[in-house]
Amino acid sequence: MNELQDLYREVILDHNRDPRNFGELADANRVVEGVNPLCGDKMTLYVKLHGDTVEDVSFKGTGCAISVASSSMMTERVKGSSIGATLALFEQVHDMLTGSGGEPPADLDKLAALAGVREFPSRVKCASLAWHALKAALTGPNGKVSTE
Ligand code: ZN
Repeated sequence: MNELQDLYREVILDHNRDPRNFGELADANRVVEGVNPLCGDKMTLYVKLHGDTVEDVSFKGTGCAISVASSSMMTERVKGSSIGATLALFEQVHDMLTGSGGEPPADLDKLAALAGVREFPSRVKCASLAWHALKAALTGPNGKVSTE
């Protein structure tokens, strides 16, 4: 288990150091700002929807390592997915972050690295911020989300 935790820590540190899909997306058609006042995490999510597909997605912002890594891993994972699959993934991640502590589903793959925050309730919002912004982007017009 310690080896797995070390691996997860490495994944998070790597994505924090070198966030994927970082920066504004000029042709985004959904833009959602997310804030987590508890920790001070702020991010803006840019989504380009094309039909039923998340054609492109990026983010920018500042925050703790967990929030940046979660945003980075999320954008990497959902780019090219359908809206339906992305919303289903949101539910899986949300359950993982807030759930009873069972093993994360295998198809979450690297996102399982975020499961460790369950041990730290104040960090759950850091990890879930980007995902709430994503859900808002897929289900409504431009807007803002806050974890509080
Ligand atoms: Zn945070």
